[in-house]
Amino acid sequence: MNMKSQKLTIVGGGITGLSAAFYAQQSMPDAQITVLESSGFWGGVLQTESAEGYLIEHSADMFTTDPEAAIRICDRLGRSEELLQTIPIDDRAYVATDEAIHPVPRGLSLMLPSDLDSVLDSPLLTTGAKERFRAEEHIPPSEWSQDESLLSFATRRFGREIYETLIQPLVGGIYTADPEKLSMQATMARFVAMEKQHGSLIQAGRVAKGKTIQREASGARYGMFRAPKKGIGELVRWIIEALPKVEFKTDSIVKSVAKVESGWQITTRDAGSESPRELEADGLVLATSARVSGRLLQAVDAELAKDLNKIEAASSAVVILGIDRQQLDRDFSGYGIIVPSILNRDVIATSFGSNKFEGRAPDGKILVRCFIGGALRRELVELEDERLVEMAILELQRTVGFKGEPGLTRVIRWRNCMPQYHLGHRELVAGIEELAANHRGLELAGNSYRGVGIPACIESGALAVERLVNDLADV
Ligand SMILES: Cc1cc2nc3c(=O)[nH]c(=O)nc-3n(C[C@H](O)[C@H](O)[C@H](O)COP(=O)(O)OP(=O)(O)OC[C@H]3O[C@@H](n4cnc5c(N)ncnc54)[C@H](O)[C@@H]3O)c2cc1C
Repeated sequence: MNMKSQKLTIVGGGITGLSAAFYAQQSMPDAQITVLESSGFWGGVLQTESAEGYLIEHSADMFTTDPEAAIRICDRLGRSEELLQTIPIDDRAYVATDEAIHPVPRGLSLMLPSDLDSVLDSPLLTTGAKERFRAEEHIPPSEWSQDESLLSFATRRFGREIYETLIQPLVGGIYTADPEKLSMQATMARFVAMEKQHGSLIQAGRVAKGKTIQREASGARYGMFRAPKKGIGELVRWIIEALPKVEFKTDSIVKSVAKVESGWQITTRDAGSESPRELEADGLVLATSARVSGRLLQAVDAELAKDLNKIEAASSAVVILGIDRQQLDRDFSGYGIIVPSILNRDVIATSFGSNKFEGRAPDGKILVRCFIGGALRRELVELEDERLVEMAILELQRTVGFKGEPGLTRVIRWRNCMPQYHLGHRELVAGIEELAANHRGLELAGNSYRGVGIPACIESGALAVERLVNDLADV
């Protein structure tokens, strides 16, 4: 095949689709690349807004440097100097109880304890829970080789109380998932491997101790996070600016795709236009959610479409508040507070963006974001803005003694944007990839498959292009 004649269409202008365009431009410099986005803006869920001196993130506000895909693309874009590290403080993540908040024990990285004393000294846990925690070392690894849910794995290893008080809220804050359904293999396989290799997670923590990543562990590995100085939306802008030869089309809703002799036919309807438009391409990357991709592929491969439809997604609302530091009854410098679901409160987690990164709020002010909904409380997302703001204010009153009214409020709803990696997800995705491989020139990418974080999405776009280049060259 003559590389010069190649046309590549990417559907979806979130970070996955944009990364695919970036890597396609590098590996297929002569190809005609088009990115089609149904909304009026680029970045998908990644949206940054500036208002009243605040830098407001509508969804993600940072990315991790491990895996490296996000930091690598920033390097390639020549933008690494424009990234911020988190503000260094001691206690970064807190857990709410009925009456108070307490720091997550410093030596606990999700489920890996590297400092037993910090867990054993924590006021969050009863004596019984601490004894059960110590006993983890003597609990033999499971002989079960099938996938296991977070609830099952964590309670088996650490007991119910540690799971309910620490592990569920720490993981829940990341995946907004149902812990009875959340697949360990698809989301936290490293802990499963550690159990097998070292016999217990306490022993695995001992072995890991001394390694840089564990030294600063507290809930999440915050020292590894970065954000562009002017917000996550910059990442989107940097990629687009680096691709002058790529055709970017917003307001272009892809309605269907079909296989034709020359490759793929893509039918779109542009906003404001009655008549559909048709494009042809040799290569097609669907960088949309599994549900959308399933719908688009229905007529091409019903079995593939059916499997794609099995990947569910949760919804959440983000309530953003701008407040005065003086409205808190004491200074709070933590990055965030997670709320165990056994407390039956409406907010899953609160993030203090201006405590994490410089330049997020004017002097004397704090930018707070409360997350509501998720897989267990999806009905809350549909409540009126006013009600959601009340819930966020109540949570701040309980946790940090907030008084009065916020100066700035925003409510953002993300419907079906958080894919749920349920038990068996890895096998489901392997099957989907096998079926998709039957269609020359077709690639699926995005947060529905092998990781929801920004680095995983970037990697997914890059790998889709790598496979596509091989596929198209292989005549
Ligand atoms: C509230 C929230 C907070 C998060 N926080 C973090 C964080 O702090 N750090 C982190 O690493 N990750 C975080 N994530 C996860 C991460 O941001 C997302 O997984 C990632 O940005 C998804 O990128 P994507 O391109 O795969 O999908 P999306 O951003 O969903 O993009 C898909 C795009 O496809 C478009 N599209 C859909 N249908 C069509 C069609 N028919 N035709 C054309 N275009 C179409 C959509 O309009 C959209 O722009 C967060 C996610 C949420 C929702």
